[in-house]
Amino acid sequence: MSARLIDGKALSAHVRGEVAERVRTLKSQGVTPGLAVVLVGEDPASQVYVRNKAAACTAAGMHSRVIPLGADTPEGELLDVIETLNADPAIHGILVQLPLPGHIDTGLVIETISAAKDVDGFHVSNAGLLMTGRPLFRPCTPYGVMKMLESENVPLRGAEAVIVGASNIVGKPMAMLLLAAGATVTLCNSKTRDLGDQTRRADVLVVATGRPGIVSGDMVKPGAVVIDVGINRLESGKLVGDVDFDSAAAVASAITPVPGGVGPMTIAMLLVNTIEAAERTLQA
Ligand code: NDP
Repeated sequence: MSARLIDGKALSAHVRGEVAERVRTLKSQGVTPGLAVVLVGEDPASQVYVRNKAAACTAAGMHSRVIPLGADTPEGELLDVIETLNADPAIHGILVQLPLPGHIDTGLVIETISAAKDVDGFHVSNAGLLMTGRPLFRPCTPYGVMKMLESENVPLRGAEAVIVGASNIVGKPMAMLLLAAGATVTLCNSKTRDLGDQTRRADVLVVATGRPGIVSGDMVKPGAVVIDVGINRLESGKLVGDVDFDSAAAVASAITPVPGGVGPMTIAMLLVNTIEAAERTLQA
């Protein structure tokens, strides 16, 4: 391996330390930042994510409230819970853990969250603000990727950035953030013809598909910075990304590991969004 390892765990600890400092300042002004996480059903992966988010919140000195609801909770009941949180002054950020059970309209649920408390940044208003260059909340995963690139001093102005995966929560907002930073952005999806032709042009390559091994070393430009957003559990129980780490690390200049890369940054940026939401209540 010749690539430098981008340590998401260490950077996330640093960001969380900065957040804890801002929490202390806010508390001295009489405001305790609060995050509510709503979990519908008993999906084991979602349970772990929610537990980690709540623990990170508490560790930073914030107020954390987890609202577990049964898998068969009617949509109307979930919307009522969100409306109550929207009106609660102790709660500055609201997050509904995805995916939701099939009988619930995810779009409607996200649109019901007050845009001012939408710390995931998934509300259409927040997506629109990001697209028009006036972001209120940047979605946590791409925001964390930007923080990693910044900490590594990766030049983005004029750089070729290729993103593999175009979801609303990762790929699309990632494209907007890289574009805003001056990169020339290519956004690939499952219909992209010859993916390697695209990825081999990338100075910065971000992969977020949920397909283990979709990008291998021969698809990476020598010296590129490779960010692996994917989190996949193999049948063996091993956790891997979307990038074939060993072959990519042999040609890249820097690469994120899985685990310990983008994952911890996502949680850190959730805390950043929550503290920003709380700070805004003082400015209002
Ligand atoms: P989605 O399933 O919502 O989207 C996947 C995207 O990848 C789609 O745009 C899809 O294309 C594209 N895709 C699928 N197959 C290919 C292919 N063969 N070639 C090119 N593009 C392809 O996934 P998410 O964005 O929600 O998540 C992606 C991965 O990131 C997952 O592994 C997830 O677990 C992980 N993740 C990690 C986070 C973290 O904190 N580290 C946070 C969020 C997600 P199309 O649009 O054509 O269907």
